[in-house]
Formats: sequence, C-alpha cells, structure tokens
Amino acid sequence: MSELNTTDPLPIVRTVAALRAHVADWRKAGARVALVPTMGALHAGHLSLLAAARDKADRVIASLFVNPAQFGPNEDLDRYPRTEAADAAALAAAGCDLLFAPTVPEMYPAGFATSIRVGGLADRLCGAARPGHFDGVATVVTKLLLQAAPDVALFGEKDWQQLTIIRRLVRDLDLPVEIGGGAIVRDADGLALSSRNIYLTPDQRHRALALPQVLNAARKDILGGTPVADVLKAAGATLKSAGFATIDYVELTDADDLTPLAAFDRPARLLAAAWIGSTRLIDNLAVAR
Ligand code: AMP
Repeated sequence: MSELNTTDPLPIVRTVAALRAHVADWRKAGARVALVPTMGALHAGHLSLLAAARDKADRVIASLFVNPAQFGPNEDLDRYPRTEAADAAALAAAGCDLLFAPTVPEMYPAGFATSIRVGGLADRLCGAARPGHFDGVATVVTKLLLQAAPDVALFGEKDWQQLTIIRRLVRDLDLPVEIGGGAIVRDADGLALSSRNIYLTPDQRHRALALPQVLNAARKDILGGTPVADVLKAAGATLKSAGFATIDYVELTDADDLTPLAAFDRPARLLAAAWIGSTRLIDNLAVAR
C-alpha cells in the first residue's frame, strides 16, 4: 500500500510560542524530549544525531537556523546552503517529530543585546581565527535550550571545540539538560561530512582528503613517541603541500578543556582547521592509549 511508503510531512514551526506549545503537549503526556540543533543543508552526520536522539527520547525536535551571530563579516553567511524542503523531508524520514525553523527577527528581535561568552575556551583554536564566532554559537544554543527546554540535546564531535564550549556553558549556567556527543560521520574515503563540502571543486575535494590523512598520521606518530612539536610542524607542512593555502591551526590539546599540550601525557585531542580555496575545513580526532 502506498500509504505505508509515504512519510507524513514534518510539522514546521517558526515561533518560540508554537515550539513551546508542542513541547508542553508532549510533556503533559510524559514524553522525554530531545533537541538536535542544526544550520540545515543536512547530511548523514546530522542524521546520525537524529538517530541518537531517537534512542534517548520519545520526541525529537530538530532546529534549523543559519545563525548570523556566529558568522564574521567576511564569512559565508550569504552563500551558506539553504535547503529547507529537502532537510524537512530527510528529517521526516529519520523520525523527527518537529522542525523548529525560526526567522532571524524571531531569534534576534529589534533591540536584542545579550551575549553568552564562555571565557578562555571561546578564544582559542577556531575562536582565535574567527573572533566572536563562539559567542554567537553559545548565545544561540543557550536560547535554543531555553526555548525548547529539552531533556537532552545532541551535538557532533565534528565541532569538538563547540561541543566543549556547550558542555561548559550548560554546567556554568545550571541548564537542566543532558548534552550528548555524536561521533564524526565521514565519507567512505575519510573526509568528515560538512555542509561546506559542497563548496569544493572536484580537485579541491580530492585534495581535502589530506586533512583526515594528516591527522591520522600525526596521531600514529604521537602515539609512537615522536615529539609533539615535530609532529605538528610536519602535519602543517604536509597540509600546505597538499594544497591547503592557509593553516589556521594544527594542535594537540587536553581532550576535555582544550589546553594546548606540548607532550602527550593524558587523553588528548588533535584538531586542525585549514583553508582550501575559499573553503575552511575542520577536523579532529582522539589521541589516547
Ligand atoms: P551544523 O549544521 O554544521 O551547525 O551542524 C549541526 C550539528 O551537526 C552540530 O552539532 C555538528 O557538530 C554536527 N555535525 C556536523 N557535521 C557532522 C559530522 N560529519 N558528523 C557528526 N556530526 C556532525
């Protein structure tokens, strides 16, 4: 029967009031609620978070908001891919119950003046290269968590620094929500999925593969005892010769608090951000025995 093959269209709400009305109904019925924040242009990485959310809750909300506050003045806000209809179809098929897709004025009404700043953590790595980026992230995520009031919210390890900052702000502000992290989903050849990968030409897409390859090789060398400074220097040079014009950073940090590590003496994270053409790619992996 065709009915069995069709997915019901996903309810889409664009106001905080409508979002809260749905959540209130679910709560009355005793449901546990999960939130998966996204900027859309959904791929299998986002959908893996949806699946994790389904496992953890009775009702799953996805949000779709291309947050102007986390883009710098010369960044890709205007050209960021916007594919809401396809996103809604993918979310419906993935078992999402509600899409919250607010407008910019709904999130930032005239006179909006508040910013959430996670000191220290927000200034390093991507924060050094993108001043103000994590203030924009922290502010919008805090708003989404207060708007949807989920029991659990899911974020990808692809954005390791973002996940660390969100865990910190939830602890610091006593937000009553569990934060879950989802493993990085990669293409078959190893490149981490990203909404920004569509910017890459076929040649750049091919060269971009150097990013996960360099991180994997660096991890092996660090675990093998090569001095960390030497490994990081060689990793940057290899990325350059592979076609990455600018390396924002290649760093080894404490896995939990992102303190830079000059020696591998505890569970660590190896993180990199680099530009290929006009596209900035990030990736990271765990370094642990
Ligand atoms: P974005 O739409 O890029 O803001 O990402 C929304 C969420 O999906 C964030 O929590 C990201 O960390 C996560 N995400 C993005 N790409 C991946 C990936 N390749 N694997 C796992 N999670 C991802």
